[in-house]
Amino acid sequence: MTIPRKVLKKLQEIVGKDSFSIEREELLCYAYDATGRHFLPDAIVFPKNSLEVSAVLSLASQQNFFVIPRGSGSGMTGGSLPVKGGVVLVMTKMNKILDIDCDNFIATVEPGVITGHFHEAVEKRGLFYPPDPASSDFSTLGGNLAECAGGPRAVKYGVTRDYVLGLEAVLPTGEIIKTGVQTAKGVVGYDLTRLLVGSEGTLGVITKMTLRLLPLPKCVRTMTAVFKSMEAAAETVSEIIRQAIIPRTIEFMDNASVNCAESYLEIGLPREAGAMLLLEVDGEEHAVEADIEKLKVLCFSQGATDVNVALSEVERSNLWKARKSISPALYRLAPDKINEDIVVPKSKIPHMVRKIEELSGKIGLPIASFGHAGDGNIHVNIMLDKKQPDQVTKAEAALETLFDYTLKLGGTISGEHGIGITKSAFIAKEIGEVELELMKNIKRVFDPKGILNPGKIFD
Ligand SMILES: Cc1cc2nc3c(=O)[nH]c(=O)nc-3n(C[C@H](O)[C@H](O)[C@H](O)COP(=O)(O)OP(=O)(O)OC[C@H]3O[C@@H](n4cnc5c(N)ncnc54)[C@H](O)[C@@H]3O)c2cc1C
Repeated sequence: MTIPRKVLKKLQEIVGKDSFSIEREELLCYAYDATGRHFLPDAIVFPKNSLEVSAVLSLASQQNFFVIPRGSGSGMTGGSLPVKGGVVLVMTKMNKILDIDCDNFIATVEPGVITGHFHEAVEKRGLFYPPDPASSDFSTLGGNLAECAGGPRAVKYGVTRDYVLGLEAVLPTGEIIKTGVQTAKGVVGYDLTRLLVGSEGTLGVITKMTLRLLPLPKCVRTMTAVFKSMEAAAETVSEIIRQAIIPRTIEFMDNASVNCAESYLEIGLPREAGAMLLLEVDGEEHAVEADIEKLKVLCFSQGATDVNVALSEVERSNLWKARKSISPALYRLAPDKINEDIVVPKSKIPHMVRKIEELSGKIGLPIASFGHAGDGNIHVNIMLDKKQPDQVTKAEAALETLFDYTLKLGGTISGEHGIGITKSAFIAKEIGEVELELMKNIKRVFDPKGILNPGKIFD
């Protein structure tokens, strides 16, 4: 897409000289996301408030150019990529925490706030915002809302949508809307808030959000359990859930994930582990200690070869560093990866794990699995070299089998990363024809000219 010079000039006037660029070096920085794919935008703008966002979208509507919202570009499915060119709307300058209301347990924030900064700010006041994607050190809250991010704590606390009470958003026409409430509950009209959360930046640009908070848990304890096989670890997860123990995280890593994280960080992770569980419990101290004891006994009874409870904050933070480093560390296995985030009913995790091992053997490519086992959410990483056509063919065939088996088990093809561009070819496997048409009609109502984030989800 080529945007006429006079329109670019108008864009620059809206956001100001310092918040606009058409320089190739700068455009390149906003051409990528975590998929490693890249598409060069025509321009980038950094709005500072919702009026500027509105003016950019009004202009786009009048002049017919595409606008692609972007937070930190850590999305795993290409949601922020300008696949058809256009203007990338980088939200990182709208990064103020406007209010933390300790009496009503709500916060009002702008979308460019880094998730981890928000955690720190509320925790200083004895409050807790549970959604905690492994990218929290660099992802924005706007990106988290647009993807309905999950993360390790979802097993006990739910996902991002469970903490969004209300929004301010700008429609592709430039109109500014307010959805939801500033109160603990509210049911007036259709739930536009829930519609926007998880809409992957295709229906509107989120410019402000009201988030629900909880009291900060008094005590948190973290432990690891090492198993000889992925299957034994998966069976243990099912048993933890059957016994109604609810840790706030039940993460798992297979042998490849443990080894890649260890090579990256060198913190003494057990390289020989067939699989490792990372369990975290929170609440009142006596209840936490009791749960940790129950989990120790349960893990050993399920065949754990070693169980360790973190004794210091350093040990605990090292374990989380290891977990959070897996995704980039996996590139030690191969230069490329196809990264999926399927979810199966929790009781079906052992079936899925067997299938993944079988698939890896069949295609002769390493498949590293890790993720949020407590939710049945498995990050399946098919490691390959995309320059080798036979590897690409094998990996793509494995993907079809993986998705078909996931759906056969009653699962879903994406638990938290969204559809974006990488999974749009598979959406019809899961969503029926009528439902898909309903979704496309909703997109047309919000965005009659199709200018906002084109080529995502359906195309
Ligand atoms: C190492 C790593 C670990 C990860 N771990 C997790 C995890 O544990 N759980 C999980 O759920 N996800 C995880 N993710 C993926 C996750 O989707 C993103 O990290 C995060 O939610 C995206 O935030 P972002 O600011 O980078 O958004 P971007 O990647 O910039 O954008 C993501 C989508 O949001 C849209 N968007 C951005 N801002 C706005 C806005 N203000 N209004 C409307 N739309 C907007 C974009 O158009 C795009 O479609 C991980 C990613 C990485 C790289």
